[in-house]
Amino acid sequence: AGDLEVEDEEDPREKERKLREAEKLSKQEKLQADRKLLPMFPYRETLLQAIAEHQVLIIVGETGSGKTTQIPQYLHEAGYSKQGKIGCTQPRRVAAMSVAARVAEEVDVKLGQEVGYSIRFEDCTSDKTVIKYMTDGMLLREFLGEPDLASYSVMMVDEAHERTLHTDVLFGLVKDIARFRPDIKLLISSATLDAEKFSDYFDHAPTFRIPGRRYPVEILYTKAPEADYLNAAVVTALTCHVKMPPGDVLIFLTGQDEIEAAEELIKQRTKSLGSKIGELIIAPIYANLPSDLQSKIFEVTPPGARKIVLATNIAETSLTIDGIKYVIDPGFVKQNSYNPRSGMEALVVTPVSQASANQRAGRAGRTSPGKCYRLYTHWSFQHELDENTVPEIQRTNLGNVVLMLKSLGINDLMGFDFMDPPPTETLLRALEQLYALGALNDRGELTKLGRRMAEFPLDPMLAKMIIQSETYGCSEEVATIAAMVSVGNSIFYRPKDKQVHADNAHENFHRGNPGDHIAVMNVFNGWAETNFSTQWCYENFVQMRSMKRARDIRDQVLGLMERVEVAVISDRSNEENIKKAIASGFFYHTAKLGKSGGDYRTVKNPQTVHLHPNSGLTEIQPKWVVYHELVQTSKEFMRTVSAINPKWLIEIAPHYYSKRDVDDLADKKLPKGKGKAGLDAA
Ligand code: ADP
Ligand code: MG
Repeated sequence: AGDLEVEDEEDPREKERKLREAEKLSKQEKLQADRKLLPMFPYRETLLQAIAEHQVLIIVGETGSGKTTQIPQYLHEAGYSKQGKIGCTQPRRVAAMSVAARVAEEVDVKLGQEVGYSIRFEDCTSDKTVIKYMTDGMLLREFLGEPDLASYSVMMVDEAHERTLHTDVLFGLVKDIARFRPDIKLLISSATLDAEKFSDYFDHAPTFRIPGRRYPVEILYTKAPEADYLNAAVVTALTCHVKMPPGDVLIFLTGQDEIEAAEELIKQRTKSLGSKIGELIIAPIYANLPSDLQSKIFEVTPPGARKIVLATNIAETSLTIDGIKYVIDPGFVKQNSYNPRSGMEALVVTPVSQASANQRAGRAGRTSPGKCYRLYTHWSFQHELDENTVPEIQRTNLGNVVLMLKSLGINDLMGFDFMDPPPTETLLRALEQLYALGALNDRGELTKLGRRMAEFPLDPMLAKMIIQSETYGCSEEVATIAAMVSVGNSIFYRPKDKQVHADNAHENFHRGNPGDHIAVMNVFNGWAETNFSTQWCYENFVQMRSMKRARDIRDQVLGLMERVEVAVISDRSNEENIKKAIASGFFYHTAKLGKSGGDYRTVKNPQTVHLHPNSGLTEIQPKWVVYHELVQTSKEFMRTVSAINPKWLIEIAPHYYSKRDVDDLADKKLPKGKGKAGLDAA
């Protein structure tokens, strides 16, 4: 009996260990079994064969067939990783992170070891990494340090049909590499693409097709256009929940704001329904969602419950969520839009293309027949939606990419091998802007300043602002501002039931009306002074996770400043200098108050714009302002705005502004003679 007791004492631990081992094993076994069920799996050998035989291969297969997660693993298993890393690009950061996490699990390693990812401001890889997922933008940056991609044996440019700006530029670069690196394998993969066009572009590379499995999806349209698509989407989702057989719901929305609003609406409406309805799990997914919350969309819905996924376009093809049976498609997407003539760039909520709408509908029929509710009319689908989405390269500012290509030594941009070239006017605009910023000389060659600017993974205007801040003695403040604006508009929050408290707290940061740039700096400094306290964020209605991200970005910006030798100097009290530094990067983004007040006109190529309602300057309405970005919703709004003195513009950007540009207003403000004299003296 004594013996038994001793054994018993040891046993539980041993048992637990074994149980854990068995659990883990069965989880691994299940993962491995699942891999074999993917549509991709039966083609493993023929695909590897095709890759062995051809240097460049176009791969087309339905979303969810396993391209992104499986192909790099197949290559790894086949030994390619012995020759170098297997890289795979994704247009979206969330996709890169999420897919890497999944693959690490399947390979049974810790994320960041053999399997890792790299996205802007976050490198989760190590010396051991052999399967590397990254955003297309990060691979472009890698070219700066490794122009022949020497450390890679395979590069897979995934989601090629998305035709993001960075992916389009990568096409040209990898095509070039393939010619002088016969040992590298190039895979261009996608859900749906015009394979012929891609094949032609890549010197007639063969196409490998993975037959898809798809169940029928019934498409339902609204009879009349919806005035409020957000509300309509929520109503449709809840009706679906109450009336339809089991199956999860996926709603496509345009961004974080809308997703949060929808979540709020659903919670309110279901509160009143109480226990009359089945359990609802709300799972949001968008670019800035912290990684620990991202996996929620993949969690299997328990029996009796229903999951509603609120997603941006990211769920259109980049991420596949199993179990979706109902798709709700309001028909909108947030896109870059750029007018090279006026230089106006904005994020605009636009109708999706027919191709996009069809992809969205397809998400409902992956594992069983499904339904797609289109919140627009059939007529509108046929007559108002474009057939295909315009490639981003044709509707965005190219400043950043041109700077990068110039640093790669590609001087003749007009001659660059673009799959679809950008409008000449856009290229010229970018060159002109880089010249005005001092990044290029008058022969279009990269200057020393341009080379330093290219080191920052930021818009050239932000890079210029940072480098210039040294002269104004406030580089630390400007690094903070750059980090805060890079986080986007998710810093402040304003819960419905505490709006007054939130507004009061936020007003503190605007005390003395320093402008929005300095206000966000005040937020960061306030937080830093409490040693980055959670409580402080809570009390001030500031999003902790956005602040953490800002802190990470700021650390990296400071690191890059050291690298390009920008001294870190601080002068918090000199607001004028801080704003001058901002204007030295953002002099393209200036506007002056209209004659009748209320609206603003951009200074060059006049366009009407407005202060964003969240700006701290709406009551003051300064005469001249510099803004960080334009967002177009109901109107064109300037977001993150500071007041400036127009005289600075001539001092800061003599190439770009003449006295005439800033004179008319000075004339009106001061008695005539005196005004002129004042300006001349300045
Ligand atoms: P494709 O690239 O062809 O669209 P993927 O390789 O992304 O397909 O997806 C294959 C499968 O892996 C899908 O069933 C998808 O749901 C699953 N999957 C991908 N990422 C994750 C994740 N992070 N968690 C759970 N499952 C995932
Ligand atoms: Mg994929």
